[in-house]
Amino acid sequence: MDYYYLRELEGKKAHDPLFIETMNNKKTSTLSDHRCLWIPGPLIIGAGPSGLAVSAYLKQKGVPSLILERSNCIASLWKLKTYDRLRLHLPKQVCELPLMSFPIGFPTYPTKQQFIEYLENYSKNFDIRPWFNEEVKNAEFDEKVGFWRVRSVGKGGMVSEFVCRWLIVATGENAEAVVPEIEGVGEFGGIIKHSSFYKSGEEFRDKKVLVVGCGNSGMEVCLDLCNHDVATSIVVRDSVHILPRDVLGKSTFGLSMWLLKWLPVYLVDHILLIVSWLMLGDTARFGLDRPRLGPLQLKNMSGKTPVLDVGALAKIKNGEIKVRPGIKRLKRKTVEFVNGRTENFDAIILATGYKSNVPYWLKDKDMFCKEDGYPTKPFPNGWKGENGLYAVGFTKRGLLGASIDAKRIAEDIERCWIVEAKHTTPFALLLPQYTS
Ligand SMILES: Cc1cc2nc3c(=O)[nH]c(=O)nc-3n(C[C@H](O)[C@H](O)[C@H](O)COP(=O)(O)OP(=O)(O)OC[C@H]3O[C@@H](n4cnc5c(N)ncnc54)[C@H](O)[C@@H]3O)c2cc1C
Repeated sequence: MDYYYLRELEGKKAHDPLFIETMNNKKTSTLSDHRCLWIPGPLIIGAGPSGLAVSAYLKQKGVPSLILERSNCIASLWKLKTYDRLRLHLPKQVCELPLMSFPIGFPTYPTKQQFIEYLENYSKNFDIRPWFNEEVKNAEFDEKVGFWRVRSVGKGGMVSEFVCRWLIVATGENAEAVVPEIEGVGEFGGIIKHSSFYKSGEEFRDKKVLVVGCGNSGMEVCLDLCNHDVATSIVVRDSVHILPRDVLGKSTFGLSMWLLKWLPVYLVDHILLIVSWLMLGDTARFGLDRPRLGPLQLKNMSGKTPVLDVGALAKIKNGEIKVRPGIKRLKRKTVEFVNGRTENFDAIILATGYKSNVPYWLKDKDMFCKEDGYPTKPFPNGWKGENGLYAVGFTKRGLLGASIDAKRIAEDIERCWIVEAKHTTPFALLLPQYTS
């Protein structure tokens, strides 16, 4: 109902002399200081797996879209910001994008390189050609004209403005590295880098390295460092659930999903904790206390992902990886911990996670939370906002969540695409139009 009312209003606007004048002014300014383009279909921000998935779905439904990507490639998180030994943490069945399966013969946990190749083939298969090096700095719904105005800065500082009816946010939950403030950082003198810049332990061979953060990345970076003969310690400040990645040859994730079909989440949590205790022992003995809530309940309530162990725990148990408490302050090549102990280190890796960057560039009233940059409505309702605004990949459920969002968004847009296209035709006469 709302939709048709809005469309009617919009159709009227397209013939409104004031509106046409506004757009004409825009066009004039375009020619002088920046370009301004009308995008007939949805504009997608971000060419990661989520952006690719929604673009492919739209294409399948006959809706053209354009992706703007700040880096120079698709899947920049996977290509540029992950370590060499990375494999998918979750089994391949839940990491495929829609409409195209992984090749037969992929292992249960594909390597980073295999996943990247798959994504490259995916974008070729659906002929997805993002505009690279376009960083979106501002996106705002223009109430006067009833469209989104999206500003990006490209190579050489070239400013572009895109005018569109549908805006799909696909910038990811991992858009910016979280770097904690640590007293004395300037005094340390050794390497301090976020895990997104960590490639391999080779760089640190025979050195002493402290890893801060005990999520999946922190634990895996520790394992990698150990495998390169690095004296490794890990800072564990919070409680953490460590689960075996596989149980009797089956993925723990798959087992949990299967059990959830029959059992309530708290019972599945109990089963997971018993299995973990039998396979891994009491992790608290090694300084890794478990949270009060079970792993799945905690994930549902806070989004905190359990660590799926791929070997780091064995090295913690045998003392190759040392567990340390929080950092109090840094001094020259020295770390003082909150328990008063001081120790020398050559380098510090911050496996302290990521955050969404949506609040920095999207001027939106309700859909996204200003504090954490996630949709305010929890899964499965966070994918749709007002005025043709959508979010894909903010479900805290990895690639599976992104695929679910992508399908819903494409179906929703398809429903109004033909009607929209008719109403908005007059803009094509006013602004240069993007055609794929
Ligand atoms: C180490 C690691 C391992 C993981 N393993 C798994 C796994 O096994 N299974 C799983 O399901 N999930 C996993 N994840 C979660 C992972 O984030 C998602 O699977 C996936 O990459 C999310 O895709 P996305 O497209 O939503 O976000 P991203 O992959 O982060 O892509 C977002 C894109 O948006 C671009 N962008 C951001 N801001 C702007 C802007 N202002 N203008 C233009 N472009 C912009 C970025 O450059 C990026 O290319 C892992 C994450 C990490 C960090």
